[in-house]
Amino acid sequence: MKYQLFIDGQWRDPVAGRWFETANPYTGEVWAEIPRADAADVELAVAAAHQAFSTGPWPALSASQRGRLVRRFGEVLEQHAAELATIEARDNGKLYAETLNQARYLCEWFQFYGGLADKIEGSVPAMDKPDVLNYTRHEPLGVCACITPWNSPLLLLAWKAAPALAAGNTLVIKPSEFTSASTLEFARLSIEAGLPPGVVNVVTGFGDEVGDPLVRHRKVRKVAFTGGESSGRSVNVTAAADFKRVTLELGGKSANIVFDDANLDQAVNGAISGIFAASGQTCIAGSRLLLQDSIHDEFLERLLAIGKRIRLGDPMLPETQVGPITTEPQYRRILDYIAIAKAEGARCVLGGEAATLPGVGGLFVKPTIFTDVTPKMRIAQEEVFGPVLAVLRFKDLDEAVEIANDVNYGLAAGVWTESLRRAVRMADRLQAGTVWVNTYRSTSYTTPFGGYKASGLGRENGVEAIKEYLQVKSIWLYTGGDIANPFIRR
Ligand code: NAD
Repeated sequence: MKYQLFIDGQWRDPVAGRWFETANPYTGEVWAEIPRADAADVELAVAAAHQAFSTGPWPALSASQRGRLVRRFGEVLEQHAAELATIEARDNGKLYAETLNQARYLCEWFQFYGGLADKIEGSVPAMDKPDVLNYTRHEPLGVCACITPWNSPLLLLAWKAAPALAAGNTLVIKPSEFTSASTLEFARLSIEAGLPPGVVNVVTGFGDEVGDPLVRHRKVRKVAFTGGESSGRSVNVTAAADFKRVTLELGGKSANIVFDDANLDQAVNGAISGIFAASGQTCIAGSRLLLQDSIHDEFLERLLAIGKRIRLGDPMLPETQVGPITTEPQYRRILDYIAIAKAEGARCVLGGEAATLPGVGGLFVKPTIFTDVTPKMRIAQEEVFGPVLAVLRFKDLDEAVEIANDVNYGLAAGVWTESLRRAVRMADRLQAGTVWVNTYRSTSYTTPFGGYKASGLGRENGVEAIKEYLQVKSIWLYTGGDIANPFIRR
């Protein structure tokens, strides 16, 4: 399969005529060639998006018509969910069961934000001056760059594209170099849904060659980025030079906190899915498990009983529980962190090494659990982005809060307790954009998602998110008589 860029509603070869290979993480085999775009392609894509934003059918639509098209796009994505899910599982090695769930769920973002398109309201502020009618309008920003990572390419794109389009913007999307194919299909389906050419454009390639020129481009007015902390920092600095709006969804080191009164069976399941789902390659992974002293040993026993039975394998098969590591650099990084944790004195009670599956070329890491972890160890502070759990102990609520908050990140946290008072006190004090009580790893289009501290800027999802793609204009209508001579002081 040889892909092309998707610009102005058409497939095009990259200007420099270069491609790179993308492999299936399970088999290790190359399955497609992806265009290696650069600044010249960015120029074409931004020009198409700018043109589509400024003239032609898109800006001429009423808000209701635009909303209808956005909702229609969601329906078309839903019709193609199985096909999109297959591409994603092939490209990033996530379990097909999960990519299918995600692909089916995409539609809801387009329904929700499509529904909001004609509910964007300005206001008529009270005035301190006579004979003036003042009103405000919430207007789209223009060309929005959407930059996404490899772990959930389409879901994280939907979080950006649905509100951006509903608000009337146009898009240039830059997917991860490891998982570009599903985003190219997404762009093609925007045309099938009836969105005008140029509204959704995709440039593929590497962060420095195509991502950076996109963020730098003067006609790009907003950058919605999901990815790692260091790329996020660079995007933020570059975008600031031109006063672009920025939303950043970055990494995490989320604490999953179990109190002694928790329903332990449920908490064990929450801890397992929190860290081992998607091989731990999720920003909201519950990568720190905080156990209250009195239940520490029993909980660990139950955790290991399940952990030892986890089945690694082919992401396409329903019996597989944990799939491969998506990329080779990520595989090396995970193994490095395992070595660091061992060197720091953490005790490895499960896994702790790579796994090989007979006859399979993909890269696997065994589900890994470290105990005797102390809060300042690197394994307790830094994001691994893999199936590696760090278990820490705490004695009471105050200590749990102190340990949970003592990291640079603040994306999410889980609390397991049957006490309402504890739950609410914890939810108040945890520095995290999302707090789950007696559940873990849920997200929805209806409620805001985003990070405290180094986990990001701004929010995606929920009604608030559409405001990240709008700017406010204040309009003054003078309804009085003659305009006074400005040179006579009154
Ligand atoms: P990454 O930062 O390496 O890449 C993300 C995207 O940014 C890719 O498309 C990449 O090509 C592009 N990019 C890299 N450098 C760039 C630059 N200087 N300018 C413009 N674009 C650039 O991240 P990744 O390895 O693809 O994904 C893993 C990271 O993403 C993890 O840290 C994870 O926590 C984070 N993540 C966060 C969320 C969230 O919602 N908070 C969700 C998923 C993943």
